[in-house]
Amino acid sequence: MQPKMMKAAMYYGIGDIRIEEIPMPECPDDGLIMKVHYVTTCGTDVKTYKRGHVLHKPGEKRVFGHEGAGTVYQVGKNVTKFKVGDRIVVHDSAPCGNCYWCKRDQANVCENLQFFGGTWTEYLAVPALFVEKSTFIVPDDVPLEVAPAVEPMASATFCADLAGVRLGDYVVVNGAGPLGLGIIACISRLGGRVISCDKSAQRLELAKKMGAEWTIQITDGIDQVKAVRDLTPNGRGCDVAIEAVGLPEVWELTIPMVRKGGIIVLFGGCKAGTKISIDTALLHYHHLTIKGIFHTTPRHVEMSYDFIRRGVLSRDVLITGEYTLDNCVQALEDHYNQVGIKNLIKIAE
Ligand SMILES: [Zn+2]
Ligand SMILES: [Zn+2]
Repeated sequence: MQPKMMKAAMYYGIGDIRIEEIPMPECPDDGLIMKVHYVTTCGTDVKTYKRGHVLHKPGEKRVFGHEGAGTVYQVGKNVTKFKVGDRIVVHDSAPCGNCYWCKRDQANVCENLQFFGGTWTEYLAVPALFVEKSTFIVPDDVPLEVAPAVEPMASATFCADLAGVRLGDYVVVNGAGPLGLGIIACISRLGGRVISCDKSAQRLELAKKMGAEWTIQITDGIDQVKAVRDLTPNGRGCDVAIEAVGLPEVWELTIPMVRKGGIIVLFGGCKAGTKISIDTALLHYHHLTIKGIFHTTPRHVEMSYDFIRRGVLSRDVLITGEYTLDNCVQALEDHYNQVGIKNLIKIAE
């Protein structure tokens, strides 16, 4: 007998997540039901919990979270691609493939981009579009708890791919959270010489493991721009400077870290409505390129999947704490307080 009710972490608004019993989802004919085994905390989750989300309407409640892996529990009658028991991971977005942007290889800003959320629960209905485009089998040699990292790693591969790094380039990556670490892993493989900046000594240790050549610990009063430039030949500045934090003040700090003709990639999403100021003379006379990069594309999801499979990002880098659904709020609080990198919430064996 299939259970009728299941446990889920429900999001009501800022600072308000409750564990509730909700009805089991129906299996779509063209979709499937995933039994959720593991979910992970992500910077986006922490931001949603701490400062709200632009898509959340007051009074609305919904299942929290967006990263997750598990097994196929039930398949729709028209689904042949997956079978019951398959170990799977579902990526959190799917572009349409047909719009102006998709046809121009900019699927990350697809006008019909669908997001998939609500993974912090026992069972999850995966609709047809996501079964078709964004569900992957987790190979037997990849631990299921590492698989949810496909999602943040897909953003890291996209960012690294578009940053324009060339062999031997000096590249500063501001922020060594999950995204920053993923970017460092990619950039060092591309042949960039990485300078990693973060407040946390623990994160900087991981940055070294991921391939950073130098680390700078951010402390009060440090001249971060000078510290970065001093590591480059004659203090000329980095070829590429990447922001992977999501704070306007760090966006501003990142810009003067590059050399003349350098590239700045502002990747960390900031709070809605925030602004930065730029020295116009610096931008013009130093011939700077500033890129805003958002999200990822299906090609980079596949690349990310391959990275996880090959162990480029291992479990000890991706996961620190372990929690259950009942204490999932603590997992978010600890992530917020930078206790570790990502936290794992175990929902089923
Ligand atoms: Zn995420
Ligand atoms: Zn599209």
